[in-house]
Amino acid sequence: MQLREGSGAVGIMGGSFDPIHLGHLVTAEQARADLGLDEVVFVPAGSQPQKPQHTTPSELRYLMTVLATAANPAFSVSRLEIDREGPTYTVDTLRSMRQSRPNDQLFFITGADAILNILTWKDAKECLELAEFVAATRPGYDLHRLESEGLREHVRILDVPALAISSSDVRKRFADDRPVRYLIPLEVEQFARKYRLYRDGSDAA
Ligand code: ATP
Ligand code: MG
Repeated sequence: MQLREGSGAVGIMGGSFDPIHLGHLVTAEQARADLGLDEVVFVPAGSQPQKPQHTTPSELRYLMTVLATAANPAFSVSRLEIDREGPTYTVDTLRSMRQSRPNDQLFFITGADAILNILTWKDAKECLELAEFVAATRPGYDLHRLESEGLREHVRILDVPALAISSSDVRKRFADDRPVRYLIPLEVEQFARKYRLYRDGSDAA
């Protein structure tokens, strides 16, 4: 696609990032390289309508995301959702990204599990109009279902080196005192230990 003068290609990676792990980072970097993105903006969610209430305060999830992405010049973290009152919806985020970057080409990057839920999102059709959707392969989730959901033509598939890592598993590992090293960045592990996150397992599931 021809880009307009002064415009860029921006990837938007939404998530709880509770905590951010190598699966998120590998996915974002692969999207950057394969789609020729100028930047990838990570957008930690505030309170999420479709997820049980998180016990990790959004400010701490935001800081862990900053720590994990700081060394990559193409990565940044947005406070858009955590600073918004009330539940956060992807459509609101995409609307305000579109407004603040009228000339940019926007890509919304999700994992295979998240994309399969898209039809349940608020204003799903508008979401698909505001950005190009990219679905990253993720172990355990079958992207062939996109066909039966009628979504295949709206979504670009991104092949990501398979990492069977999830934040829920990382939280359980912290609670059970099992290793998290090489699953999350060292800085994130140190930060989580410093603030004694995920220790009692109540938010592990
Ligand atoms: P949880 O287990 O708490 O749901 P998670 O590991 O799924 O956490 P999220 O913050 O929910 O992480 O995910 C943010 C985005 O990153 C989603 O679009 C998700 O599909 C994608 N994602 C997460 N882990 C991976 C992975 N290992 N490979 C590819 N995509 C991933
Ligand atoms: Mg998830």
